[in-house]
Amino acid sequence: MGETKHTKVLIIGSGPAGYTAGVYASRAMLEPILVQGIEPGGQLTTTTEVENYPGFTEVQGPDLMIKMQEHAQAMGCEIIGDIITELDTSRRPFVAKGDSGTTYTADAVILATGARAKWLGMESEEKFKGFGVSACATCDGFFYRGQEIVVIGGGNTAVEEALFLTNFASKVTLIHRRDELRAEKILQDRLFKNEKIETLWFHELEEVIGTESPLGVTGVKVKHTKTGEINEIPCAGVFVAIGHAPATELVKDVLETHNGGYVKVEAGSTRTSIPGIFAAGDLTDHVYRQAVTSAGMGCMAALDAEKFLAEQE
Ligand SMILES: Cc1cc2nc3c(=O)[nH]c(=O)nc-3n(C[C@H](O)[C@H](O)[C@H](O)COP(=O)(O)OP(=O)(O)OC[C@H]3O[C@@H](n4cnc5c(N)ncnc54)[C@H](O)[C@@H]3O)c2cc1C
Repeated sequence: MGETKHTKVLIIGSGPAGYTAGVYASRAMLEPILVQGIEPGGQLTTTTEVENYPGFTEVQGPDLMIKMQEHAQAMGCEIIGDIITELDTSRRPFVAKGDSGTTYTADAVILATGARAKWLGMESEEKFKGFGVSACATCDGFFYRGQEIVVIGGGNTAVEEALFLTNFASKVTLIHRRDELRAEKILQDRLFKNEKIETLWFHELEEVIGTESPLGVTGVKVKHTKTGEINEIPCAGVFVAIGHAPATELVKDVLETHNGGYVKVEAGSTRTSIPGIFAAGDLTDHVYRQAVTSAGMGCMAALDAEKFLAEQE
């Protein structure tokens, strides 16, 4: 039998939302425990330069997350390297099981388990991730000023990303497997009217090609889905825009979700459909998906949890 640890506030996840919740909950004297999960530091540890986090003109993603962890720790947050495998929300205190064998009991829980961009799963995509291959136009579009870019996908995400990227790129080629888009009509209209965007129908990504030293993208090989013919398109950036999946495994059967599985919170708060369970960051946010918005929601979740606990006393 592993040990049992009790806390007033259990924070699950160590991205910007989790660590910010840790800072605020610690400063509210709630002595929080934060469980980091399989990816300590969250999504930003998988990228290089971050240029849009206030206070840092430019910072490497992993460095920013180490600073956030140190900040939460310095305020008194207990940070534990463990993965929560089960969360029982039917009783109070809530009970979370850790992969390590530890059981965590908590008067309130802040869920900050984030989301994952969906990828195509090919080797060359993995190789150039962060070096020309991206899944976030808001994060990385700025790096491609005056250059040619391709976007992969056919839904709302792909069309929105393609339109946004025309603010920077000289040309955007949208590559789609079929000859029609799943995106909303209004988005499609904007796409077809935009002179910087070319749509390549009936094609799928075959391979990302580029240089080794420095590592960087120079183009893509695409395959015609009907004829099998392979063509090359020169480009400096590849944006894979086939959607995101929120990490809701622990709660998808018990909490209300919306917009394709994101945890639903009351407008203007982080309160979920179960009192005492709060959600922050990409897990609840299908729109902005940024480090700074996640951090903002982490702050809100800690303040919401503090208020909830005060009302219980
Ligand atoms: C390649 C890339 C580049 C990006 N660039 C930028 C950028 O330049 N600027 C920007 O603002 N945003 C950027 N983003 C987006 C940004 O990273 C996210 O919006 C942000 O990290 C979301 O923070 P979060 O705290 O909600 O969750 P995440 O960062 O997704 O972290 C989730 C955390 O939950 C933990 N977790 C999950 N399941 C469990 C579990 N069962 N038990 C315990 N822990 C668990 C994980 O280990 C992880 O620590 C980028 C994203 C990617 C992928």
